[in-house]
Amino acid sequence: MADRAARGLVIPFVALLLIGLVAGDLARRALVRPAAPRSMRVASPAPVPGAAATGGGGRTMAAAVAPAATLDPETRAVALLRIQREGAETYLPTMLASGDSALHRWGDDRAGRPVRVAVMRETAPGFREVFFANVGWAITRWNAVGLPIYLEQVADTAGADIVVTWADRLDSNRAGRADVSWDRSGRLAHVLVTLATHAPDGRQVLPSQMVALALHELGHALGLGHSPVAADALYPETSAADLTVRDRRTALLLYSIPAGSFKQ
Ligand SMILES: [Zn+2]
Repeated sequence: MADRAARGLVIPFVALLLIGLVAGDLARRALVRPAAPRSMRVASPAPVPGAAATGGGGRTMAAAVAPAATLDPETRAVALLRIQREGAETYLPTMLASGDSALHRWGDDRAGRPVRVAVMRETAPGFREVFFANVGWAITRWNAVGLPIYLEQVADTAGADIVVTWADRLDSNRAGRADVSWDRSGRLAHVLVTLATHAPDGRQVLPSQMVALALHELGHALGLGHSPVAADALYPETSAADLTVRDRRTALLLYSIPAGSFKQ
């Protein structure tokens, strides 16, 4: 009985700590930069798999989102405790506090089977050969994080898990987007990344900007949400030349807890 009573106390305690953590993160966000435009999420009773599109230009849109299954209470409590202990230097609490309160990532079953990334050879106006190298470099940077999954660049889009394609321009105020779909467990199933050769203002994207775009959109392709810190690759209007410690820590923490919905 005593054990059960103690456990009963631990769970609300963890929840309170996490709320504090998220509030702290939001307060820091308000101090560091003006808040990014709020993400817009449209809940819908669409069938599984879910799908969301996440752009790099400060806007996140999602349509036809099928909710991931809710974690069982014990798994949820363990995951929240882990986030409370290890999440302070990450943007995972921010990710969890926004949108549908769900985390999506590639499943643990992919640890021994690489996630295949096909970077398409079809080009768009303004395309430069160096952009291929920029995406390839971004892939190596994510692989260097030490996640339990590995991104393997493949030539053929057939059977690819992540497809990277090109566009002249994208709609609205962005130059990259990731269309992400997942299964009912919240495990990622397929991602289509689109990178634009021109910014919304019509200027050609520079190779350094393509690196930032590729790091950002591949982060979404791994399941990461936006960071409120301007230096991070997952900041909505990123100009990051490389992943930050915070990007790496967030990805490592994401891959140490289960995918799924944290709603109670
Ligand atoms: Zn984004």
